[in-house]
Amino acid sequence: MAKQYAVIGLGRFGSSVAARLYESGQEVLGVDVNMERVEDSNEFVTHAVIADSTDPESLKAIGIRNFDTVIVAIGNDIQASILSVLLLKELGVKKVIAKALNKLHGQVLEKVGADWVIFPERDMGIRVAHQLLSPNVLNFIEISKNYSVEEVRATEKMKDKTLRELDIRAKYNLSVIAIRKDHELTISPPPDKIIDEGDVLVVIGENRDLERFANLS
Ligand code: ATP
Repeated sequence: MAKQYAVIGLGRFGSSVAARLYESGQEVLGVDVNMERVEDSNEFVTHAVIADSTDPESLKAIGIRNFDTVIVAIGNDIQASILSVLLLKELGVKKVIAKALNKLHGQVLEKVGADWVIFPERDMGIRVAHQLLSPNVLNFIEISKNYSVEEVRATEKMKDKTLRELDIRAKYNLSVIAIRKDHELTISPPPDKIIDEGDVLVVIGENRDLERFANLS
């Protein structure tokens, strides 16, 4: 069933979140104080309204409580961002996600009740560096500070070998949880599965082991 999302602040960040949710069939309400931003958003949101999220009456009028998740994508106006998160939590919104400009802003957002604080520039910077250090890593999810799941492109050295031969668990202390070939996914691949060049291995383990493995070329 489609979920209901509200995105407050339709700048680059808010618009990207809204558009992606909308594309995948979710209901998305776009909110901004700026009329032009609201008008421009009609291609990638279900509805859009002009409202100031620092005004409790406006938030009530748009029925913000009824949304499963509200994303506060206001950045530059730190005061407005903090006040909005505070009001949304006070009005009873279950999940409030907020974008922070810096560490202090993020700490305050957490204090006033944000359920998830995002630092887009910091996180993107980390991703870019990660990609530069390990070009074979296509994607990764941090599970905790030291552990991740990574999508690693099979290198020449892995080609035509079985998982048993590669002995990834013993040599690297990693588990291969899936292998993707084009659009076909093999979950929990058997030990005799042969790796082709270009296959993508989905691997879980400690970051330093993942780095060693991804650079096996
Ligand atoms: P981005 O970095 O995502 O491109 P931006 O540079 O346009 O954003 P921000 O200050 O982060 O600037 O604002 C994002 C959007 O939030 C703007 O379109 C702005 O009009 C909107 N906004 C700011 N304050 C409020 C508010 N109180 N209520 C609703 N929308 C607001």
